[in-house]
Amino acid sequence: MFKRVLLKLSGEFLANENGFGISPDTTAQLARRITSALTGTDVQLAIVIGGGNLWRGARNGQGMDPATADYIGMLGTVMNAMALQDAMETAGSPTRVMSAIPMAAVAEPYIRRRAIRHMEKGRVVIFGGGNGAPFFTTDTTSTLRAMEIGADVVLMAKNKVDGVYDSDPRKNPDAQFIAEATHQEVVERRLEVMDATALTLCMDKGLPIVVFDLFKGDNLQRLFAGERVGTLIHR
Ligand code: UDP
Repeated sequence: MFKRVLLKLSGEFLANENGFGISPDTTAQLARRITSALTGTDVQLAIVIGGGNLWRGARNGQGMDPATADYIGMLGTVMNAMALQDAMETAGSPTRVMSAIPMAAVAEPYIRRRAIRHMEKGRVVIFGGGNGAPFFTTDTTSTLRAMEIGADVVLMAKNKVDGVYDSDPRKNPDAQFIAEATHQEVVERRLEVMDATALTLCMDKGLPIVVFDLFKGDNLQRLFAGERVGTLIHR
């Protein structure tokens, strides 16, 4: 049974059917799923939300100063965090947004001890603004925040992919599912789990990672109960 978990959601979880923007319907559905999985458990939940549905520095910011392009991406994650908070509260989960980039009118500043306190009081904490630094992704934010708040695991949510394969199952029908691997194996075999910087951080600190399909069955409930779902990466 996990006590405290960090759930990484890419921005696409909030997007419309084309993978772009924020769809209130999609976001509401997502929030209901998370809330129902949490109900009746003692699990403390923090969420890192990405921003790829709005802007990715490297892709959308071509021709710009790369740091500026990344800051735009970080601001996008705050928009997503606000949309997710709105949907989570409608679904019945008390929620706080904390932004790595101070933005007092819309979010609390990120203060580690305060984030932990919110979780102890049963609030879901949504981390927006990435790390507050360019040249990173929200994968690194997930591992960084997970370590800061003492999470037992980083849950990397996927949509329609149930874990890690030895090659892309959408392109290779013979792709083999990997139920368990060490961080070292993920690096050596170049398995797709999270970006290299984030993975190295998990490896150094022995932080377990689970890659799973958020919308398959009651995966999230089962994970919160400590069951094995998807792919487990460990030391
Ligand atoms: N970003 C950044 N620093 C961070 C986190 C994010 O500069 O610590 C920027 C970066 O431009 C990135 C964008 O925000 O492309 C959106 O985040 P990400 O690509 O991780 O979103 P996801 O793919 O998870 O939706």
